[in-house]
Amino acid sequence: MLYYKFSDYLKKRFGCRVARISVDAGFSCPNRDGTISSDGCIFCDNRAFNIAVRNAGRGPLASQIEDGIAAGKMRYGAKKFMLYFQAFTNTYGPPAVLKARYDIVRNYDDIVALSIGTRPDCVNDEILDLIGSYSDRYEVWVEYGLQSIHDRTLSFINRGHTYADFNNAVRLTRKRKNIKIAAHVIIGLPGETKADIFETARAVGLMNLDGIKINPLHIIKGTRLAASYKKNDLLTLDEYVDIVVGFLEQLSPGTLIERLSADCPWELLVAPRWILDKQGVIRAIEAAMIGGETRQGKKWTKQI
Ligand code: SF4
Repeated sequence: MLYYKFSDYLKKRFGCRVARISVDAGFSCPNRDGTISSDGCIFCDNRAFNIAVRNAGRGPLASQIEDGIAAGKMRYGAKKFMLYFQAFTNTYGPPAVLKARYDIVRNYDDIVALSIGTRPDCVNDEILDLIGSYSDRYEVWVEYGLQSIHDRTLSFINRGHTYADFNNAVRLTRKRKNIKIAAHVIIGLPGETKADIFETARAVGLMNLDGIKINPLHIIKGTRLAASYKKNDLLTLDEYVDIVVGFLEQLSPGTLIERLSADCPWELLVAPRWILDKQGVIRAIEAAMIGGETRQGKKWTKQI
């Protein structure tokens, strides 16, 4: 096994193809509404998050879910589904409001898993207890946007939280045994060297998280990064592949790899264009791993 694919895990766990339904449940983000900042992360444009979200906009949540189920059945032959609260910050609100929105999952018998995407500074015990309560019927995940362990980078990209916030969120979440934890990281952030990125890989590896989503930095139209980036700052496909392979080597073999490239609609993408061939990027990573006779976790055991 080159790396531990999330799709394989879901298939084995639930006995059939499980498709993810990504929704916009109408939340906001404290990094956009003025609470932390009103500018947002410099790369952020939630329109690029996902096709369903783009098409549905903030249409009714039920319609987004029903469209997602129909599309998953038709395109992938999926029989079961994971509901992913993706857009913006999905724990940003009073617990009663969160519960009212999460509860919609109980209306759909084919949904077997629930995943909540959020910022690491937007959870507390009460919210995590609420999320954990869905483990009565669902596999439950929380996905934290980390992006990098380097506070200077987090500050530059205007995340509005620190690495310590992420560590705290992981610590709080781990007090519950019924919530799985995934982190999102971005490779190629401004000012980061390969050594910096590998420091993030080592730190995440040592945390032995349940899952990770690895994204290449890409520039989306209308973002602040689009106005300031320099073409030479972006990774080439070969550079990205080389770094991802090294990143995977430093992760625990038990961490599920949920994503290795980005999904961005061509009409919103400024650069790099190579991310438009998502399957090609994944094939290139796998080929490099085979050629290099390496695998996820190859360097992980040496660190503990
Ligand atoms: S935390 Fe997420 S939703 Fe908020 S500005 Fe950053 S990327 Fe966008």
